[in-house]
Amino acid sequence: MIILYGDQLLKREQVHVDIEDRAYQFGDGIYEVIRIYDGQPFHMQDHLDRLEKSAKKIRISLPYELDHLEALLKELIRQNDFTQGNLYLQVSRGTAPRNHAFPKNISPVIIAYTQPFERPIKEQTEGIRAKTVNDVRWLLCDIKSLNLLGAVLAKQEAYDHDCKEAILVRDGMVTEGSSTNIFIVKDGILQTHPANQLILHGITRKITLQLADQLQIPVKETAFDRSALFEAGEMFLTSTTMEICPIIQVDGQPVGNGKPGKITRRLQKAFVQSISSNSKR
Ligand code: PMP
Repeated sequence: MIILYGDQLLKREQVHVDIEDRAYQFGDGIYEVIRIYDGQPFHMQDHLDRLEKSAKKIRISLPYELDHLEALLKELIRQNDFTQGNLYLQVSRGTAPRNHAFPKNISPVIIAYTQPFERPIKEQTEGIRAKTVNDVRWLLCDIKSLNLLGAVLAKQEAYDHDCKEAILVRDGMVTEGSSTNIFIVKDGILQTHPANQLILHGITRKITLQLADQLQIPVKETAFDRSALFEAGEMFLTSTTMEICPIIQVDGQPVGNGKPGKITRRLQKAFVQSISSNSKR
């Protein structure tokens, strides 16, 4: 397997992470997960733009231009002969003797590699179960930070209850999933949390809102409370890996009639069409 390390493409065995890499010691860095379908990156530009925004917010200056990074990532895909799955990309603030404050003259470390992953067709067809969990994360959730402990603990709590996703609730309001954005349909209106600092501004969330607009599905980007989950007719989550996936049960209660809803199905269909038009480009 070939890995992008800095601006070099190396064999995995040649790449070694330093024990004083700040990503490793502090989670001091940012990341992206980019989907590859048929060897083509999906919405790469949106991911790179978000990476740049996250970098700015934590005061990391990327060591080279995004165009150069994009070219290196495409070369990584080509050299691995990679067709289906995820491209993981992370930027650490760099390596220096351990001390919380930013070290002087530190250079960011970029690492990227590919991970095969099939589209989760079973989950998308049948829907998944979710569990509500307190959102105890920090208040800058729009930064795609490497600090994922809050998400890790929430996801595990869901798994411990035989659920696939944790729906996070802060001050009584639903924010997002532990690694997904959450949508409900109530009275024919699609609803999701506004893109502020309490959620990650998901690329799939953005695509879904564009598709809803094209399909003339009414949308409200307003926060809703936990009880709305139990009154919703439909519910789904979105993410780069899960795409659009119905949620059919929350905390043991069926959502609507307990089956994936009609609006969810329309959006899923439109999403799959956008994947195939991406692959044909
Ligand atoms: N929210 C959180 C907390 C996430 O970690 C993710 C995926 N990394 C998402 C939402 C979905 O974002 P995207 O659609 O860009 O994958």
